[in-house]
Amino acid sequence: GKKPDKDDKGKHIQVFVRCRPLNGIERKANSYSIVECDQARKELSVKLNVPLGEKSSKKTYTYDMVFGPAAKQIEIYKSVVYPILDEVILGYNCTVFAYGQTGTGKTFTMEGERSPNDEFTWEEDPLAGVIPRTLHQIFEKLTSLGVEFSVKVSLLEIYNEELFDLLSSSPDIGERLQMFDDPRSKGAVLIKGLEEVTVHNKDEVYHILEHGAAKRRTASTLMNAYSSRSHSVFSITIHMKETMMDGEELVKIGKLNMVDLAGSENIGRSGAVDKRAREAGNINQSLLTLGRVITALVERTPHIPYRESKLTRLLQDSLGGRTKTSIIATISPAAVNIEETLSTLEYAARAK
Ligand code: ADP
Ligand code: MG
Repeated sequence: GKKPDKDDKGKHIQVFVRCRPLNGIERKANSYSIVECDQARKELSVKLNVPLGEKSSKKTYTYDMVFGPAAKQIEIYKSVVYPILDEVILGYNCTVFAYGQTGTGKTFTMEGERSPNDEFTWEEDPLAGVIPRTLHQIFEKLTSLGVEFSVKVSLLEIYNEELFDLLSSSPDIGERLQMFDDPRSKGAVLIKGLEEVTVHNKDEVYHILEHGAAKRRTASTLMNAYSSRSHSVFSITIHMKETMMDGEELVKIGKLNMVDLAGSENIGRSGAVDKRAREAGNINQSLLTLGRVITALVERTPHIPYRESKLTRLLQDSLGGRTKTSIIATISPAAVNIEETLSTLEYAARAK
C-alpha cells in the first residue's frame, strides 16, 4: 500500500523536553544554567563550552513542546497526557515515557510528590504527577460521559531484565514473573501471576501508588542501584461498554502505559552503550532496545526489534501501528551535566 507521508508520522510519536530548576547541590558547586527554553518557538538551546577568548556558541533543538524550570505539573499533564487520554477512551493503546539522566525529574514528572505539612489533599496537590492526574481524569470523564466502565491497574518493574510485581499482595519482592506470548492476540504478552488491581473510585488511586512505593523501597534495599537501573511500567486498562440506540452493546478496551525509565546515563551520545559502562558490564538491554525500536518506528524499517528486550516485548502492542507514544525527556540545566544533557537531547531528537 501507499506509505503514509511524513506529516502523518509526527502524530504517532511526540517528543517533549522538560528542564528542571537548578538544585541546591548544583548551586553550591557553583554550577550555573546553560539551558534556555523558548516555549513559544518550541526550541531549547544549550550553551556550549568554548575555550577562553573564542566566540560563545550554542546548540539549538526543536521538539513538539519544551517546558522550562517554571513549568507546573498541571501544564505537563494538560499538554502531554490529556490529549492521549482521548485516544485511550476510543480504545487504543498508548504509552508515555519519561527518559533522562538520574536526578532530572522522571519520577517527579510521572508520579509527582506530596507538598510538605499535609498542606493539600492528594487530589489538590500541585506537585501531583501525571499518573494520579490521569486516573482522576479517567473517572471524571467516563462518569460524565455516562459510559459503563471499569479500570484496572498494574505496576511492573524491570531490573536487570527480570520482572517484579510492585502491586502483588505477597510481601516477597524477590519473586520474578514470567512473560509469555499471548496465543489469542498477536504481539501481546501475558505475565503469569501479575496482579491487576481494580480501581473502584478515584480515591483508591493513592493507596495503590503508596503500596507500590513501599515495595519499591524494599526492592531498593535488595538490589544494587535499583531506583536508577529499573524501569517502572504503570499500566491502566479501561473496559468500556456503551449501549447504542438500537440496544446493541459496544465494548471497547483502551490501555495507557506510563513508563518511568531507568537513568539514561550509560547511553552515549551516539545512542550506543557508553564505552566505560560496557567495560563495567553495565548494559541496560531494555533501554538500549527501546532506542532501537523507536528509531525503527520513526524510520519505518520493516523489522522492529521488539523481542530483544523485556521492556519492548511488554510494550509491543502499545508501540507502533495505531498507537500513540509520547516521550518526555528530562534534563538538568546545570553546566556540570552538559554531556548527559546533550546525550538526552540527541536521543529525543532522533525519536521525532
Ligand atoms: P529521576 O526520577 O529522574 O531520577 P527525580 O524525579 O527523583 O529524578 O528528581 C530528582 C530531584 O529533583 C527530586 O528531589 C525532585 O523533587 C527534584 N525535581 C525534579 N524535577 C523538578 C521540577 N521540575 N521542579 C522542581 N523540582 C524538581
Ligand atoms: Mg526516579
